[in-house]
Amino acid sequence: MRCLKCRDKASVEMRRHNAAYCAPHYVDFFRSHVLRNIKSKKMFGHSEKILVAVSGGKDSLGLWDVLTHLGYKTTGLYIDLGIGEYSVRSREKSEAFADSIGGKLVVKDVREAYGEDEMGITELSKALRRAPCSGCGLTKRYVTNQVAHELGFDVLATGHNLDDETATLMGNVLHWQMGYLARQSPVLESTHVRLARKVKPLYTFTERESLSYVLIRGIDYIEEECPNAHGALSILYKEALNTIENQSPGAKSSFLMGFLDRAKPLIEAAEDVELAECIQCGEPTTAELCAFCRMWDRAKSARRLNRGKI
Ligand code: SF4
Ligand SMILES: [Zn+2]
Ligand SMILES: [Zn+2]
Repeated sequence: MRCLKCRDKASVEMRRHNAAYCAPHYVDFFRSHVLRNIKSKKMFGHSEKILVAVSGGKDSLGLWDVLTHLGYKTTGLYIDLGIGEYSVRSREKSEAFADSIGGKLVVKDVREAYGEDEMGITELSKALRRAPCSGCGLTKRYVTNQVAHELGFDVLATGHNLDDETATLMGNVLHWQMGYLARQSPVLESTHVRLARKVKPLYTFTERESLSYVLIRGIDYIEEECPNAHGALSILYKEALNTIENQSPGAKSSFLMGFLDRAKPLIEAAEDVELAECIQCGEPTTAELCAFCRMWDRAKSARRLNRGKI
């Protein structure tokens, strides 16, 4: 296939758009579509301070690269979750990328900030006797909110792509998680002075499209999956959606966009929920003690108890 712009040999073919681009024109296409998403959804402006949550993976580093090139005021945030060698390597990739673009990277180590005796996500899940991903997801949401507020950021940007969003949507629909469905939007306005606006500028790009950008740009990202991702339901949902997409190109996009169109009243109603402040940490919550404090307190007590028994 030939590039749609210059007729040179194409490097990236996009069946669902019926289009193909050479490497330089694909970079232009990708950046201009990210900009279109930002503007059409009123995600942020050039005067706002944006905290980009980076994991060392392709999507988050690619997003930081695009936003930097579009001239936005960005800072990276890497959360060290304490997941063995995976965390060590993903932190190195994030730090190396920040250096390569001359960007500032804030690093928050969960073990130092919240755990005790070097307690990270692995120890947390062992103490709670539950799968690491549920505690990890809650911890990441809490830490990103807290850092964004403490450092005065207006906006928190994440690298979620179309595959991530449709897999989450499928999981939420299969289990009719109405609370989560109401919060599944590419833009979540701040509903409390301590909460930054949350945005997902890559929400219309497939994993393959996001990867193509990163490969063409030569960004060094962590290719290995988190060891805890093995067997996660999100992977099953992604595989099922890929099977559907192969037979019916554009199915993922119409699934997500159709939902976002119809869910507007649900999402707007969720923005009206009154939030209080956690009596222990002060972060916004609907309960007296926030879910994060409850979870970590329970894990620390269980760990102390287990150690006492030995
Ligand atoms: S796979 Fe699970 S444990 Fe690993 S980073 Fe993702 S949410 Fe956390
Ligand atoms: Zn071209
Ligand atoms: Zn709390």
